[in-house]
Amino acid sequence: MKTQVLSAQQTGAAAAAAEIIKNGGLVAIPTETVYGLGANGLDENAVREIFRVKGRPQDNPLILHITGPEDIERFAHGVPQAAYTLAEKFWPGPLTMVLPARANVPRRTTGGLDTVGLRCPDCDVTREIIRLAGVPIAAPSANISGKPSTTTAQHVLDDHEGKIPLIVDGGPCRVGVESTIVDLTGRRPRLLRPGGIGPEELLAVLGDLVVDKAVTAQIDQDEVVRAPGMKYRHYAPQEPVVIVSGSREKAAAYIRAHFEPGDRVLCFEEELPLYEGCAPLSYGREADVDTLSAGLFAALRELDDAGIHQVYARCPVGGGVAYAIQNRLKKAAAFHVIDAEELL
Ligand code: AMP
Ligand code: MG
Repeated sequence: MKTQVLSAQQTGAAAAAAEIIKNGGLVAIPTETVYGLGANGLDENAVREIFRVKGRPQDNPLILHITGPEDIERFAHGVPQAAYTLAEKFWPGPLTMVLPARANVPRRTTGGLDTVGLRCPDCDVTREIIRLAGVPIAAPSANISGKPSTTTAQHVLDDHEGKIPLIVDGGPCRVGVESTIVDLTGRRPRLLRPGGIGPEELLAVLGDLVVDKAVTAQIDQDEVVRAPGMKYRHYAPQEPVVIVSGSREKAAAYIRAHFEPGDRVLCFEEELPLYEGCAPLSYGREADVDTLSAGLFAALRELDDAGIHQVYARCPVGGGVAYAIQNRLKKAAAFHVIDAEELL
């Protein structure tokens, strides 16, 4: 199969993508978070193809992408008022809400769960594709399962050339990390995954928020969790990653003392001069955390290289999107963090 890449600006790109979706095929779609591998979320066979092409475990549910709050009731029931309040404030945008699923949503899409994740992406061409297709688009991140997510059309091509018919190129993703996921089916709202919308912003609207333990700690393979995706190894290059926390100077002293040939350093642009001779790679500016989230996965993909022995990573502190960066880097590092402040 030849994989075509169409610019989102190109006339007919959305129509071509919608046609493939309507016919049960796969299309890689841009969003503000990451590129998704999309298909008709109501078509079991189309959804099966997503799992096959991505190599994704069957119990890891897919998010349904919709055009706005008016679609919530089509796929969810027993919708609390909070869902509409959140949609009003954060949609279109990087927020996924988990709600009780209606029977029209195949259990293959929800990974066997009786809940469904819904999101309205902040990307004009993708909302247009959904509208033209007339169905919700189920889409996980377009990377091969377990690998760092795809934030450019080229990343998708690298992973799936010849395996999907079309990639819609909307340029590099603005946010660069996956959506914030909040579960509204329990007694209290629960943060299942941090993302572009910070926990403080959710708390300000909801007045209450439990942070699921999968956000902050390693989950055992056999553990039962609310968002099954959380238990799998994620976002990781093939070599081990270790996060080195602490001040710029102390972290650099630790890393420089332990650095060996074949290692790499993933750091902030401001820190590059500290790592001369240590093969540093910057993923953005610490002073502008949005550049870090936007650059994180491209950097992790660049570091996914059999020739690399180990990666020392620097991670921003604080809330908002920095909280999501901490989560992704900790997962890539299998929660291996060294505090340089304690050691020196
Ligand atoms: P991905 O699109 O690859 O980032 O993965 C989507 C993630 O959304 C899954 O790994 C789950 O963690 C989460 N998710 C989707 N639907 C549900 C649901 N019904 N309940 C809980 N989590 C969900
Ligand atoms: Mg993913």
